[in-house]
Amino acid sequence: MLNHPESSAAPSTLAEAADLIRTPELKPTNDGHFGAYGGAVLPDALARPMEDVAKAYEEARQDPAFYAEYTRLLRDVVGRPTPLMLAERLTEAAGGAKIFLKREDLNHTGAHKINHTLGEVLLAKRMGKQTVIAETGAGQHGVALAAAAALVGLDCEIHMGAVDVAKQHPNVVRMQLLGAKVVSVERGGATLKEAVDSAFEVYAQYPEQYLYAIGSVVGPHPFPTLVRDFQAIVGAETRTQFLQGNDGTLPTAVIASVGGGSNAMGAFTAFLDDDDVRLIGVEPGGSGSELGQHAMTMSKGATGVLHGMTTRVLTDATGEPAPVHSIASGLDYPGVGPQHVFLAEAGRVEYVSANDGHTLEAFQLVSRTEGIIPALESSHAIAEALRLAPQLGSYASIVVNLSGRGDKDIDYVADKIELATPEVVR
Ligand SMILES: *Cc1c(COP(=O)(O)O)cnc(C)c1O
Repeated sequence: MLNHPESSAAPSTLAEAADLIRTPELKPTNDGHFGAYGGAVLPDALARPMEDVAKAYEEARQDPAFYAEYTRLLRDVVGRPTPLMLAERLTEAAGGAKIFLKREDLNHTGAHKINHTLGEVLLAKRMGKQTVIAETGAGQHGVALAAAAALVGLDCEIHMGAVDVAKQHPNVVRMQLLGAKVVSVERGGATLKEAVDSAFEVYAQYPEQYLYAIGSVVGPHPFPTLVRDFQAIVGAETRTQFLQGNDGTLPTAVIASVGGGSNAMGAFTAFLDDDDVRLIGVEPGGSGSELGQHAMTMSKGATGVLHGMTTRVLTDATGEPAPVHSIASGLDYPGVGPQHVFLAEAGRVEYVSANDGHTLEAFQLVSRTEGIIPALESSHAIAEALRLAPQLGSYASIVVNLSGRGDKDIDYVADKIELATPEVVR
């Protein structure tokens, strides 16, 4: 495989910045296929609007002005570049490879998602849309999209299952404070699946008014490509920062959690040509290996169609998307981005899992050793780093994409672990 030129000129378009793969057999096609996966499997009412989005996106990614605006917002609003930090006390506790954390938790709104929601609202504006619409499960995507929409002056409409509206009250309030309209979907199980259906129905009815802003590297073309391109900055920064801080060497491994797979594609893309760098995606092993106890789509799913894409899917006995579980609500998705399936079959990325227990241990260890409360999603990647570090030994180094902060998770965690009762003084 080829290597990147180490000192190429600064990119002037998103296409230049994000087309980081040189290895021919890993290069995806431009029509949204990653080998046998991806594409756009859509009813007629949605096929045409998605083609329009794909066309507009292709123009945007060639436009220097679009890229200049996106990078300006990343700097001034998101706070990029985020640091790559050597986690000294975590490394000591793990006993082996050096562990580095890519601090996406320091982004505005607290996670990597703002990187792509900003790109999506800029595209919506460019297309002359009035409103961005999306579904949200736990509310993280909804909040990141609402913040981005407010910033550029677009309306934002978020569909959310009624069950989730009740469970995720603080995120509902955040979205409303940010000016979004929250629609509570009461049909069926009243969770994420129904929210997706409901939001797509509205979109299919008014495609001129809306842009559907998908929350990960999933869905029909162009979204797996589009979201990846806007996240590729994570790995591009990481690679440069690592080279600069480590005498021009690269890490032994880069590890990221995989729900739909956007933070992982963001972390991996710049390293795909670097044969010697192991890339590891971590899925939620949940509470067991029975269907319904986990969301290990990569290891336990089969090829199918979900949300407009051909990919790997976890299905139940009737062929419907299976119920999934993870302590990290951002990872409980019965599908996965099509490029991940392609990269697994190409043998370039390894996919493993971390269960709820190991994830909770990693969550607490990072909090105590580094003073950082990580998102439960990101804690899956840390759990794998802790497992791998002693095996690799002290000459190795591991980069973990710390995709978000864990403030959102503290009430949930407090129910699961033993915390000391505050000492009383009188
Ligand atoms: C949403 C979320 C994820 C999972 O989404 P991907 O598309 O798989 O990256 C991971 N980490 C955090 C902090 C999230 O908010």
